Parts: sequence; structure tokens; C-alpha cells
Amino acid sequence: MENMKKKNDHIKCTVSQCQHNMVTENYCSLGCITVGTHEANPTVPECTDCNSFVKRTGCSG
Ligand code: SF4
Repeated sequence: MENMKKKNDHIKCTVSQCQHNMVTENYCSLGCITVGTHEANPTVPECTDCNSFVKRTGCSG
């Protein structure tokens, strides 16, 4: 099923540790993601998070 992933041209992402990442193309494979924040008052990109992140499982750790 891993090979059935399709890249979403509208969501670029470099988080290769995420199960939804295309890895070879720096794109997300989800049709839609949820972005959130862990800060009370976010001021820089680092304050935001992809809440659709799922840790990749498998041999590469
Ligand atoms: S779910 Fe979020 S972190 Fe994972 S590949 Fe998509 S955009 Fe990146």
C-alpha cells in the first residue's frame, strides 16, 4: 500500500520522517492536512506544526 501514495502538488513538505511524505519528491501525499501551533502567540514558522504528521515505521527508524 505504501507504493499507492500519490503526491499532492499543493502541499510541499520536507519532513521525510513522516509516513505521509513522498520522501523522493518533498511533497505530502495527503489530500488535506491540518496545521496547528504549540504556542499561545505564534510569531515565526517554527511555532507551527503539521498535526497530520504520523511517524514513519519500518527498518529505517
Ligand atoms: S502529513 Fe504533514 S508532516 Fe507529513 S508529509 Fe504531510 S505535510 Fe508533511
